[in-house]
Amino acid sequence: MYCNACGKAIVDDARFCAYCGTVLGQPPAPKKLIRSRADHKIAGFCAGLGHYLDMDVTLVRLAWVLVTLMAGVFPGVVVYVLAWIVVPEEPAGTVIATAQAVTNS
Ligand SMILES: [Zn+2]
Repeated sequence: MYCNACGKAIVDDARFCAYCGTVLGQPPAPKKLIRSRADHKIAGFCAGLGHYLDMDVTLVRLAWVLVTLMAGVFPGVVVYVLAWIVVPEEPAGTVIATAQAVTNS
C-alpha cells in the first residue's frame, strides 16, 4: 500500500502513514446502543443491549428479569421504560447482528 499524500510504501494495515502522519481510511464508527427492531420481546432493549455488549440476548433477558425481581420489580420496570424512551430504535431496513444470528440459525 502507498500513502496518498507522500507516495511512500507503507504497511497494508497501517492507519497512519509512518512518514508524513496522514490518516489512512476511516476509523471504525463507535458502537451505538439501539433497540432491536427484528429481535424483540417487548421493546427490543435487551436485544440491543446484548448486541452492544456482545452477549447472548437470552442471557441478557434472563439477567434483566433476575435483577428486576431481586430489586423489587419496580426499579427494573422503570429503568426498562426509561430505556424504551431514551434508546433509539434501529433504523428501518437495517438488522443488527443478533437478529441476523437468530434468523440464520
Ligand atoms: Zn505519507
